Amino acid sequence: MATITSIHGADVSPPHGPTHARLRQLLEALHTQQHTEQIMQARIVSLQVELDGYRKRLQRLNGLAHQQQRQALTDVLTKLPNRRAWELRLNEALACHRRHGGDLQLAFLDVDHFKRINDDFGHPAGDKALRLIARLLASRLRDSDFLARYGGEEFAILLPNTGREAGYAVLSELCKSIESAPFHVRGRRLRITCSAGLASFSAGESGVETLRRADQALYRAKRNGRNRLELD
Ligand code: GH3
Ligand code: MG
Ligand code: MG
Repeated sequence: MATITSIHGADVSPPHGPTHARLRQLLEALHTQQHTEQIMQARIVSLQVELDGYRKRLQRLNGLAHQQQRQALTDVLTKLPNRRAWELRLNEALACHRRHGGDLQLAFLDVDHFKRINDDFGHPAGDKALRLIARLLASRLRDSDFLARYGGEEFAILLPNTGREAGYAVLSELCKSIESAPFHVRGRRLRITCSAGLASFSAGESGVETLRRADQALYRAKRNGRNRLELD
């Protein structure tokens, strides 16, 4: 090891006698410690860089997980919440309703004779109609309402803090807006109608029971001639 003869310009040589030998030992120890500290500092910096890398990777993975979760709850065609998202939201709404009470309406809305659109104009035309209907419905509901594609050409709607009459008015308006919307396929205007069934949540009743009543109301609307809304 090289002999240290100067620190900050001060002469610390020559190392003669026991005192000087001790001093030299101390200086060498100090030098070794300084060297170790430099190595440690460099290691800390490199660990911080590594940690930053891990943080960024974790952020990316979190973003990816959120994106996948969103995709798992979104209908690919209409971009509306899908059936799974509906079930999650329905359970939340039911829990809230049990705790706080209040008015909560549930509706099913089904496009009338939708199969004919596919049969007459092809599946892509049917897809286009579904996307338009979804956009129309979404644009007419409040942020606190919940709209999902329940399946095929059927949509499910939750209307929190909405009484029975107000719910009826909202659903009638939705059906009318679909009927009067300018759907065009191959330059031809198509009139599309819907049928809907509406049910109010009752205290003490299970969600399954309310769903069943709304579904029954929808089928009554179909049986009674379509293009209409029935209350349970
Ligand atoms: P109703 O008035 O009794 O409801 O008659 P409908 O023709 O609407 O009902 P039906 O159950 O007989 O047919 C529904 C059709 O919806 C059949 C199915 O192929 C079509 N469909 C379901 N999902 C999609 C989709 O994502 N895209 C298209 N283009 N068609 C779909
Ligand atoms: Mg239908
Ligand atoms: Mg249907």
